[in-house]
Amino acid sequence: MILAKNRSRFLDASVRSRTQFKSALHLQSIRAQAIVALLCLLSATSAVRAQDGPLALFKNYFLTGDYVVGGVGLRGQGTPLIVSGGVGSYATGVIHMAPMAGTNNIVPANADVVAAFLYWETIADASLIPNLKFALFRGNKVEGKQIAPANTAACRGSGGGGGNQNNAQPLLVFRADVLRFLPFLANSATGQPVGQRLVNDSDLASNLIPAHTVSIPDSGAGGTQSPSSSNQAFLSEGASLVVIYRVPGVVPVGSPAVPLRGISIYDGGYTFSPTNATMSQTIRGFYQSSLSGPDAKMTHIVGDGDTSFQERLTVNGTTPTGVSGTNAFQGSLGSSWDNLTFSVSNLIGGGTPSILTSVGPSSPSSVDCLSWGAIILSTTVQDKDGDGLLDAWESDTPPAGLPNLYAMGARDNQRDVFVELDYMQSGAHRHLPSRQVLDNVGNAFAARGINLHFDVGKQFETDPTPDPYIIPSASLGGAVHGGGEPIDEGLTCDPASTQPCQFPPGTVSWKRGYRRIKDSQFDVNRKDMFHYILMAHALAFPKFVTNDGSLVSIVAGGGTAIVTTKTAHGLNSGDTVTVAGAPAGSNLNATYTVGAHTTTTFTITTGAGVSGNFTNWGLVLNTGVPRSNSGVSDLLGGDLMITLGLWDGGTGSEFMQASTIMHELGHNLGLRHGGAPNELNCKPNYQSIMSYLYQVRGLLDLSGNPLINYSGQALPAINETSLNESFGLTTGTLPYLPRWYAPFSTSFLDQTLQTSPATKHCDGSPILASGPPSGTVRVDGYSYSARPIDWNADGNTLSTSLAQDLGFNGAITAIPPGFDDWSNLDLRQVGARRDPLGYSLDITLDDLGSGYDLGSGYDLGSGYDLGSGYDLGSGYDLGSGYDLGSGYDLGSGYDLGGELDLDSAISLGNAPNALSATPARFSIDLKWSAPNVGHVTEYQVWRSTCPKNTTATTCTITPSNPPAKIGVWHPAVGSVPADPLCDGSFNFCDTSSKNSTLYVYLVTATVSSKQSGPSNLVKQSR
Ligand SMILES: [Zn+2]
Ligand SMILES: [Zn+2]
Repeated sequence: MILAKNRSRFLDASVRSRTQFKSALHLQSIRAQAIVALLCLLSATSAVRAQDGPLALFKNYFLTGDYVVGGVGLRGQGTPLIVSGGVGSYATGVIHMAPMAGTNNIVPANADVVAAFLYWETIADASLIPNLKFALFRGNKVEGKQIAPANTAACRGSGGGGGNQNNAQPLLVFRADVLRFLPFLANSATGQPVGQRLVNDSDLASNLIPAHTVSIPDSGAGGTQSPSSSNQAFLSEGASLVVIYRVPGVVPVGSPAVPLRGISIYDGGYTFSPTNATMSQTIRGFYQSSLSGPDAKMTHIVGDGDTSFQERLTVNGTTPTGVSGTNAFQGSLGSSWDNLTFSVSNLIGGGTPSILTSVGPSSPSSVDCLSWGAIILSTTVQDKDGDGLLDAWESDTPPAGLPNLYAMGARDNQRDVFVELDYMQSGAHRHLPSRQVLDNVGNAFAARGINLHFDVGKQFETDPTPDPYIIPSASLGGAVHGGGEPIDEGLTCDPASTQPCQFPPGTVSWKRGYRRIKDSQFDVNRKDMFHYILMAHALAFPKFVTNDGSLVSIVAGGGTAIVTTKTAHGLNSGDTVTVAGAPAGSNLNATYTVGAHTTTTFTITTGAGVSGNFTNWGLVLNTGVPRSNSGVSDLLGGDLMITLGLWDGGTGSEFMQASTIMHELGHNLGLRHGGAPNELNCKPNYQSIMSYLYQVRGLLDLSGNPLINYSGQALPAINETSLNESFGLTTGTLPYLPRWYAPFSTSFLDQTLQTSPATKHCDGSPILASGPPSGTVRVDGYSYSARPIDWNADGNTLSTSLAQDLGFNGAITAIPPGFDDWSNLDLRQVGARRDPLGYSLDITLDDLGSGYDLGSGYDLGSGYDLGSGYDLGSGYDLGSGYDLGSGYDLGSGYDLGGELDLDSAISLGNAPNALSATPARFSIDLKWSAPNVGHVTEYQVWRSTCPKNTTATTCTITPSNPPAKIGVWHPAVGSVPADPLCDGSFNFCDTSSKNSTLYVYLVTATVSSKQSGPSNLVKQSR
């Protein structure tokens, strides 16, 4: 399947403003290409679809959550109501979402709502579908897709559930994705979402939000039954809302508080009647119920049930507890509608891949007529090693249609994580990480007993040494779109388009552009098994957004507007900017030319009708230059994108590639920036690559080697308002050297070295308040001892009652304990990702109604350009950007801007790594390696002489014995070659050293025009 050229247009589309989408031709081409992508998906999906009965598998989900359901019967209750494009009469009612006897039917607090589908059944002539497909949900017009097979007869339309289907009209079953219409709590001043979408009646009521009102087509008392009549009647039986949620969270290994479930939704349309008195449906798609005590429930969404006529429902041959043995469907939701839900825990059996549900007559003289729309099954599934991969999937004979994970190295008694990786490439410039980078990540996981398996296709196969973390391509058997595939970076803007791209080529929006690429590069039958890494060039994220305060306001009136940014905008008169995310109807969303400007303000010429002070959440100003965010990922999920194209060498250093892959994968596995939810980034007592304190500089060992790892222990709390140096980090030995921030004014070593103070907070936020005199520097300790620690870096550990912003996030606070990442990884979230734009999980074009939904959804035909504004940064791209709560909790508020960017990474000079000293006959020879980030123009070598009577253990640098600069060494810069090496392979040979004298050495660097802090210290004599 060749999509290379088409792909470029998908991306192109994702990064342009709505004003650039007026060309209908252009729209059509995008739509056509989207359909091509869809066909790819369907061909991949067909293997996992099963139809063992009248209904077909629509979706299967694997997540630590469940579904809830509610419905309302509405038949014959229509009254006149105008819905554009719809019919003139609708029946309106309230769907109650409330606890049900016998089954769990409540969405827990803090759950992420990942999918919501509205089903309704209509009895009408099929020719009316173009109008009948429109309904209202919570006042929003929704378009259903008609899913009943053509020519499915309904029960007789004249009312009454019994009897035969003679002269019955067609049964129409509609399904709509309504996730994006579920309400959420928001800050009333800014519009910023502050909680998850709300489902339960009780949550709506307690927040004074109206209940779920639905209006579906129904002609009420009007119309006739005659299909030939111009006054055709149409009756809708009722509507049900099915909501899938995922409970995020930190689940200790070995004691999962929230079990992994498989949820299968079958739907379509089918009528059971005296002349067709059988309904038998096998439910699959969950692959393997839990071997011990499965917890399972089932729902039948059925129209036309009543109390007069009868039927018997069974599951695996037995009537479920709580279900009437003679009349299961009684129209219990009013007016011939049921979404009968019952436990099948005692009927499903352990370890089974299927369950059978049947309905037949209970009395031959009284047979009901019933019309099915959907059956839903949820069961706990079998995953004994807790890695989210079912035992059946990890067996040597996996279910048909699924990847053979066993052949790829998976076992059901070891924790496995599968990752597919594709990369962008443009000529010799490519984002494929080296084998060493993948190995470094793999090694970190392997040390904790977790086997990482990268699918990079045939990459690196010329290396004869088997790699424990790279799946041999021969084992990948059958993947249509496996990993290791190049994606042309240069094709990401449409070369035929007359419209300028809003961002340069290689810039991919999250999650829309990402999803476009993934849909054509990733087999859908891997959706619950593989994480998908896209190594892209850059993230389409605008420089200025209100969400993180970088855009302060746009004040419009009188035909002009003044834009104010928090920090220098760097724009000049005549530059082009695009505003998106302003309220609909404001007429502010458009592309403008920059007029008069100051450092942080500029004017644009708007229409005369635009007025107001715009500061709403989601408002963005796009300058066409993306941010340099290192990556982005689902916080709990399976999608991640690494975007280091604006970093060193156009790809980022190998260290940054490895640390960013591990960091973003960590978010997929439930890790945050501060450990536990809702904690600040950059905690000194949280030694993890998840913290910005460590993502760039690395976790240092005693030799100054930067390493990647998650935290393996919860260090004690520390109180920045009253630090006692003798207590340090309180207890024991640290796994890595400690790191924190100290005032430049008290750090004698940084004063000696003239280290450049940080220009941004550690979490990336701008430094606005004036800090300590002459700023703040980052300090690395030189010992694994947790105590004492010289917090103020003044050369002694005697200070008490210090108040110091150790994490340098702009506040002096009590820092909660650290966090044991490894013990809290949740490997079971891979299947519970987020779709763009508030669509339900795993939705494809084909799942939606035609036209309307597509227009605002996948083909970018309307609504916002989600390269900017609503489809944003890490973790908080939860669909439309509106669905937040725990999902966007990455620590501090500034995280709303996305991940660590280059500006933050080089806001202070990063020190050289791994300084070592080797004694020679006439010199002490030094070598080191480059910092992980930044462009080095010079290295400086510093030395202090140890006092007599000190040893390598006791000698240290002190204010009274500071180091002095003894030389410099220049790396290659442009066409200027590096200074020569000495004594074979060393950067610097200290020929001024004396025999039998102990020295302390350190190296600094001038990196990206900043003076770095010190490297590790080495002590050496000769
Ligand atoms: Zn690139
Ligand atoms: Zn992060």
